[in-house]
Amino acid sequence: MPEFCDVALPVPLDMAFTYRIPQNTAPVVGGRVLAPFRQQRMTGIVVALHDRKPLVTTKSILSVLDPTPVFDETLLRLARWIADYYLAPIGEVFRTMLPLSAEFKRAIGYCITDDGRRALHLAGMSGSSARSRLTPEEQATEFRVLDYLAAHANVDEQQSFPPENNFQLDNGTPASVAAAGFTLVREGTLRSVTRSSRAILGGMVRKKWIAREDVSAPQDARRTIKVAVLKSAEGKLNENQRPLIETLVGAGGRIPLQALQSPDIPRTTLNTLVRRGLVDIVEEPANRMVSRAKPRPSPFEFEFHAAQQSALTRLQDAVSARKFSGLLLHGVTGSGKTAVYLAGMRFVLDAGRSAILLVPEIGLTPAVAADLHQIFGDEVAILHSALSDRERAEQWHRIKRGEARMVVGTRSAVFAPVSDLALIIVDEEHDSSYKQEESPRYHARDVAVMRAKMSSAAVVLGSATPSLESYFNAKKNKYALVELPDRVEQRPLPQVEIVDMRQEFQETGHEQVISRKLAAEIQERFERKEQVMVLLNRRGYSPVVLCRTCGKKLECGNCAIALTHHKREQKMVCHYCGYTAPVPKACVHCGSEYVYFLGTGSEKLEELLHGTFPQARIARLDRDTVRGHEDFERTLNALNEGELDLIVGTQMIAKGHDIHGVTLVGVVGADVALGLPDFRAAERTFQLLTQVAGRAGRGQSPGKVILQTYFQEHYAVQFAARHDFAGFYEKELQFRSWMHYPPYSALANVIVRSAKLDEALQWSGQLGKWFDAARHEGVRVLGPAAAPIVRLKRDYRYHFVLKSPSREKLNTTLRAMLAHATQQKIPRTQVIVDVDALWLM
Ligand SMILES: [Zn+2]
Ligand SMILES: [Zn+2]
Repeated sequence: MPEFCDVALPVPLDMAFTYRIPQNTAPVVGGRVLAPFRQQRMTGIVVALHDRKPLVTTKSILSVLDPTPVFDETLLRLARWIADYYLAPIGEVFRTMLPLSAEFKRAIGYCITDDGRRALHLAGMSGSSARSRLTPEEQATEFRVLDYLAAHANVDEQQSFPPENNFQLDNGTPASVAAAGFTLVREGTLRSVTRSSRAILGGMVRKKWIAREDVSAPQDARRTIKVAVLKSAEGKLNENQRPLIETLVGAGGRIPLQALQSPDIPRTTLNTLVRRGLVDIVEEPANRMVSRAKPRPSPFEFEFHAAQQSALTRLQDAVSARKFSGLLLHGVTGSGKTAVYLAGMRFVLDAGRSAILLVPEIGLTPAVAADLHQIFGDEVAILHSALSDRERAEQWHRIKRGEARMVVGTRSAVFAPVSDLALIIVDEEHDSSYKQEESPRYHARDVAVMRAKMSSAAVVLGSATPSLESYFNAKKNKYALVELPDRVEQRPLPQVEIVDMRQEFQETGHEQVISRKLAAEIQERFERKEQVMVLLNRRGYSPVVLCRTCGKKLECGNCAIALTHHKREQKMVCHYCGYTAPVPKACVHCGSEYVYFLGTGSEKLEELLHGTFPQARIARLDRDTVRGHEDFERTLNALNEGELDLIVGTQMIAKGHDIHGVTLVGVVGADVALGLPDFRAAERTFQLLTQVAGRAGRGQSPGKVILQTYFQEHYAVQFAARHDFAGFYEKELQFRSWMHYPPYSALANVIVRSAKLDEALQWSGQLGKWFDAARHEGVRVLGPAAAPIVRLKRDYRYHFVLKSPSREKLNTTLRAMLAHATQQKIPRTQVIVDVDALWLM
């Protein structure tokens, strides 16, 4: 066995750490180990085994968690590629890829020291010390902590920690207080019993009165359920016992206890049967994820029109070739892309291989999950954001064991540990939820393409509005372009009518939210018993509160962002950090009473619609009314069942739903995003307008869209109105090419942040000077400049935008910049490198 191993730990440092391997332990590359790091214990991934003795003294790993690798060769390569491409710390990459945090229990323990005993003794004699900087209450708390720890110093360990939490060190070194035979009291217990805070305990550790130790340890994360097992049906049964035994027999002799219990039968009945030896109760791993929703009768029709059939054939050929190939499936809204995906996955399953389907965050409703279970049975694992850590770990193990070969999930499902991967599908590939906005800042679509390359698999990117990057790649023949130009059953795309809101203002003499045209069209739909969707991509009641005396806005306390008025909650809310403030009666800056609430959000729009159409049944869908997938689905179901006439909402309503009764879509404030200083504003607006227009006319009656705008000449609005993707794409590419923006350049946003303004200025100045002096050929550096949102979540922010036609040169420059920042003692967490940034805000 080699003497040392290199371990990637989940810390923001671009390196692995060398540890000694103790006798009789056998870590494996790609497996987890428990290791001491500073004052903590952490799980990390072994990336190398070797005999090169490091120059500094090394600690030993504490234990080996996996006898076999959790990452196979391809996933290890993929992790390295992500760390390299996105300049992300390798340990953070592994942490993101492996959803097994439930298998590690964090625990901190405390014990009293000799100094602590002395302090306790003195305090007992003299009462509180007048010289202390602490308040009498704080001193009393310290006394309670010392007293409690002293009293529990000699109690058997197992009373303060459960036995499975064995914190004897595996390597036998008495490096810790725990190993030296002290008894530790768990932090949670100590804090609740002595009513102490983390700050008080920290202060006592610094005074060396108490010692703190990380005693985190692996734990069994498997959930179990109790199952009743039939042993014998012989013997006399009374009228309560008989139905229980009959149910058990009917279920084949085993049934979860929960399913057996009924309000009509006393609980003691089962106990009696157990005592008589007729029934046994056993614990079993709860491995099955049972969907609560009932499957819809026929979720997908696999009777394909010609274009669908040819797309499926292309996909099947790509899978069968067993080498990398990329397909861009550009299908108009309502053209039946999902059916092609699912048929493709069935093909992979029948071949005994694996497939991954990525969907945007809002896509995985309970009904979709039920459909997937119906199609793929137990062979599917569904990974969504509502899973608990334990459930997530369970699904990971099912996939790793090969029990589930079809994986459907949001962003991080791209890391699912399937073997023999044949196909990855990225649905709505343009969706921004595929980009992770924290380290590692990866884009799941691009990782999917790379994983497919490494696995010699096929990748399918699907969308009605492909991203410029993907369409560009297809045009350059990096991907094959497959088009679904028609809707299913030859249904026409909706007719789009633009309403110029400046003209509306001139003709009516005042600012309108709902134009006369839109109001008339809505009225007409209600009379015909048809349904309407109205989009306003801004939540809350009023987005701005302005003082007419001093001209200032009411801003968030943590961000340079105007607070939004939420009327029903009677609060002012920051949409970036969640900060709230009371609704002002007077200006907070000058005291003037002339404060005005300006603009319209979805909450106000709903109120206005209620006022205009008092008879209509109206619901709202946005992040204030939807807390989870089930709320979302409930509202959509109500619309589907005809219990609603109109839904108003933010972009949430634009995404991929198939409601047949909607014949009119109104877009209010189509151009909110066009005013933002972001080079992707036009692309985003075009995508949103096209997607929301696609909700209209998916049933028997044709659809119509009313698009209200102040920028009617803007090409994003014009091309969306004509359903002209190719036209928009040509125009937008021209702009990107002139401005050296993606896809013509690789781009990175570098943000320097600090809670202290002078630090943010100083650091960005230092990096600016370095960029100037280093003069990296072929890389354009813009900045430092104040970020468009100059203060966010208490941090002041300055940024650089780097562009280069060569990705290699860009990354070399970024790597050198990070090395310089480290040299200048700028903390790694305060310099954010966002490669292929989606937002430059
Ligand atoms: Zn004022
Ligand atoms: Zn804020």
